Amino acid sequence: MDWRTKLLDPTPQARNDFTALTTPIYRGSTVVFDSQEKVSDDWQHAENGYSYGLYGTPTTLELAARIATIEGAHRTFIVPGGQAAIALVYMAFCKAGSHALVPFSAYGPNREMAEGMLRDFGVEVEAYDPLIGGDISTLIRDNTTLIWCESPGSVTMEVQDVPAIVAAAHSRDVSVALDNTYAAGVLFDAFAHDVDVSIQALTKYVGGHSDLLLGSVSSRDARAYNALGSVYRQLGLAVSPDDCSLALRGLQTLAVRLEHLEKSTLKVAHWLADHKSIAKVFHPALPTCPGHAQWQRDFKGSASVFSFLFNDDATPQQVVNFLNALAIFKIGLSWGGVTSLAVVYPDLDRPGQDFGGRLVRLNIGLESPDDLIADLEQAIAG
Ligand SMILES: *Cc1c(COP(=O)(O)O)cnc(C)c1O
Repeated sequence: MDWRTKLLDPTPQARNDFTALTTPIYRGSTVVFDSQEKVSDDWQHAENGYSYGLYGTPTTLELAARIATIEGAHRTFIVPGGQAAIALVYMAFCKAGSHALVPFSAYGPNREMAEGMLRDFGVEVEAYDPLIGGDISTLIRDNTTLIWCESPGSVTMEVQDVPAIVAAAHSRDVSVALDNTYAAGVLFDAFAHDVDVSIQALTKYVGGHSDLLLGSVSSRDARAYNALGSVYRQLGLAVSPDDCSLALRGLQTLAVRLEHLEKSTLKVAHWLADHKSIAKVFHPALPTCPGHAQWQRDFKGSASVFSFLFNDDATPQQVVNFLNALAIFKIGLSWGGVTSLAVVYPDLDRPGQDFGGRLVRLNIGLESPDDLIADLEQAIAG
């Protein structure tokens, strides 16, 4: 062979009996087949073998299989982020003429997609009160195909009665999708509660270090899996094996991070609840949180994100000044990493509730909770 040809020969020469504790990072678009007869273009890599890197490499499939095992799912798809996971679910369970239900408290970009792209595609998405429980049956129509739950809700933290919603939905043959990001797929057992699809922004707790974007979409059964798979293939939701490798590493420390974050977060939340300048704390483990009883009944623990409301006499500018005065807390979106974050959402769409720019969301990180409390104290004092 000419040296130019040798440069391109992919045949492995190193011995391959290297057994490490880590999952190898497989990069690859093209998959080489043994013969023309074996060429396939199948997205079902887990069942039928590899055909093309777009539908998963061994690194992707390893992460998918671990998430499926941890969540007790039939199978899991790994997608580029939590928002891509939400898009995949909508596309798989809605078509022109469908009606879907989404809680007011859902992640903002979920509702933006509902009111933007989906409306343009002829899907009607109706927002509902996250605390509706079994009365959701009054909103189900003949063309309802999907009900979203997100529990607790984004920013306002309402814990939903997921079992009641699932029972009402299934009695009318409607599928239920849950955004289970808060619970990291473990603090709430989605499939023991019979949801059809459970998604996570792996970006948050599984990644855990604010350095990657990934999502997972887990299915309860073959029916949900196949509905998702055909759309997954058409949308081309490929992910990087490097990001999957980081997520696999994140899983190894998820339990200790969650346990530690729960304790620190509760300490900060209780301190805020006792503060005279604070009207209310929205933390699922505190009785002031809407849906607290559902949290007690259904959850195995609480996580690192919660919100609190300044007293009525605080002006929006004072709240902004408070945020700017924080030294250890950083101002930023997202959560689930090692760094404490604070942010205000000035225009939340929550019918019948006006927080007047006084609702602040915190993510507690791995700093000392006493330092975090001191930081809040000096920023509240102004
Ligand atoms: C962050 C988040 C998402 C989106 O995740 P990305 O990976 O940032 O796209 C979806 N749902 C919830 C509840 C989130 O907090």
